Amino acid sequence: MADGTRGGDGHAAMPARSPVAVLRGGTGLAVRFWGVRGSIPCGGRDVMRYGGNSSCVELLCGTRRLILDAGTGLRYLGEALMAEGRQDLDIFLSHAHLDHLFGIPFFRPLFEAGNKVRIWSGHLEGGLKTEDAVRAMMAPPLFPITPDAFAAELEFRDFRAGDTLEPFPEVAIATAPLQHHNGATGYRISHGGRSIAYVTDTEHEGEALDERILALVKGADLMIYDATYTDEEYPKYRGWGHSTWQVGVRLAKEAGVKRIAAFHHDPLHDDGFLDRMGRQMRAAFKGAFVAREGLLVEV
Ligand SMILES: [Zn+2]
Ligand SMILES: [Zn+2]
Repeated sequence: MADGTRGGDGHAAMPARSPVAVLRGGTGLAVRFWGVRGSIPCGGRDVMRYGGNSSCVELLCGTRRLILDAGTGLRYLGEALMAEGRQDLDIFLSHAHLDHLFGIPFFRPLFEAGNKVRIWSGHLEGGLKTEDAVRAMMAPPLFPITPDAFAAELEFRDFRAGDTLEPFPEVAIATAPLQHHNGATGYRISHGGRSIAYVTDTEHEGEALDERILALVKGADLMIYDATYTDEEYPKYRGWGHSTWQVGVRLAKEAGVKRIAAFHHDPLHDDGFLDRMGRQMRAAFKGAFVAREGLLVEV
């Protein structure tokens, strides 16, 4: 792919080489997409090129790794990490809807003693905690095992959307609440003078751009944005909690964001649809592209 993006292993059915290998010893910032689909994973020939796994993004900040969301793409990242040996990982959840959480019980590093995993979220209200969400999903009769089956050292970290986080000295994370059913958190991760914003799932309101998102993403090198729908489709889905690539481009222009990745693809958007969408996006904003499984972007 042109423009500093390049394809990884494409289809993620085979464990792919982690970008740690690319950045080892460096100070760069890179993102790799392991799941780009929203709402529900999907399969079949017509979605193979962009991929059918739900939201999971790996971020490399020099030699540090962050994981954004734990959709079904997380399973493939887990397989790649197993080849690297012992792991010390942080998973930041946008929120706890199943398409962002269901990779957790299938994330193999959690079943290995000696690994450490921290799961963070900042959107829950009413006294609910991150651990409650994971335990609610992993409980009979919905699931055969509970998180107690994990052999890794698992820690849950709760914060409030809007907080600033510093998981390691060389990585700063700003957060903001998003407009979504049951809440969601947007992130901006900064390292070595560069930054990536992760803004999914969120719905815009009318014509006005969300001031909290504008402030979060201002001047970011890359914004990964909820492009579940197009502006043409949106009237049918008003109130469903998602946005459009056109609103993403408006946000990017207004906030001086350099590049934008359309993300959280609707399961009805097949490869042909996303190809056309990519062309329209690039015509509207030079730094725009459509996220697909396996894509590695160095920022
Ligand atoms: Zn979602
Ligand atoms: Zn959601």
